[in-house]
Amino acid sequence: MFHWENGLKLTKADLAIDVRRRQPRAFISHAHSDHIARHEYALCTPETAALYQHRLGKRRTLEMPYRQPIEWGGLRLTTFPAGHCLGSAMLLATDGEQSLLYTGDFKLGESATAVRAELPHADILVIESTYGHPDYRLPPRKEALDQLFSLVRETFDAGAVPVVQAYALGKGQEVTRLLTDQGIPVLQHRDVYAVSKVYEACGMKLGNFKKFTGRAVPGWAIVAPPGAGYLEGIGRQVRIAVTGWAVDRRTKYRFRVDHAVPLSDHADYDELLEAVERVSPRVVYCTHGPESFVDRLREAGHDAHPLGRASQKSLLR
Ligand SMILES: [Zn+2]
Repeated sequence: MFHWENGLKLTKADLAIDVRRRQPRAFISHAHSDHIARHEYALCTPETAALYQHRLGKRRTLEMPYRQPIEWGGLRLTTFPAGHCLGSAMLLATDGEQSLLYTGDFKLGESATAVRAELPHADILVIESTYGHPDYRLPPRKEALDQLFSLVRETFDAGAVPVVQAYALGKGQEVTRLLTDQGIPVLQHRDVYAVSKVYEACGMKLGNFKKFTGRAVPGWAIVAPPGAGYLEGIGRQVRIAVTGWAVDRRTKYRFRVDHAVPLSDHADYDELLEAVERVSPRVVYCTHGPESFVDRLREAGHDAHPLGRASQKSLLR
């Protein structure tokens, strides 16, 4: 039903999936840069189409809203929410005899700015298993959120500026929405702000936020991408990284921040195992994760295999 040719391809439909090099026809699970290219024709959700074109300019797309099947190249294709960022989708392909579910980047838990993941049954599961190691068990979401809100409030109380570091697409918008829901307005770095405008155009409200123009405003938190580094001219700042890697205590040194909060938009180890159980496939292929996760699935009785090259860290968001 599929083969690997510098990336995953649905053989019958000649459709590339999340391939980083230009393709005649490709499905894009979401608009993170490690999943997109200037394809001749791209299949994706309407929200991903908007974000993809924000990043790469006007492109030809076929929009596939969640849960609305289309017939394509002898296959029936349906997108399901992946819970990772706005528009993120899993792809279910069926040929009348068997079905394949490709998860893309996903998370099972709640998100403030993405539709919660749905997992249909499939015979073949291709699962993105970035956190496929038992070290990557995230604490309960409420714990991470309380930590974030406390750090931001303590920083205000100490007369400093909280600078929350979050990726420009996805985490930046979710952190903004989480803070504004707490009554904490947000100044966004221009890269985060540009993506937020697309979120809002897609109907995803983010609350009280403005573009950061180089000046701090008392009582406002700043949200900036990790690459923005130290912000000049705003006085004393406390930098807080929001990342799944924060489960590792060394993360705050590696990220050169004052604090690291373990909030992720990827499934953690337990969620990965739960996803496999819920899809209940005949065979599982694991991408982007450690080989040990394949072994773990085999021990649990699954017919599991690695797929493609493992490059865990470079693909993490
Ligand atoms: Zn992603």
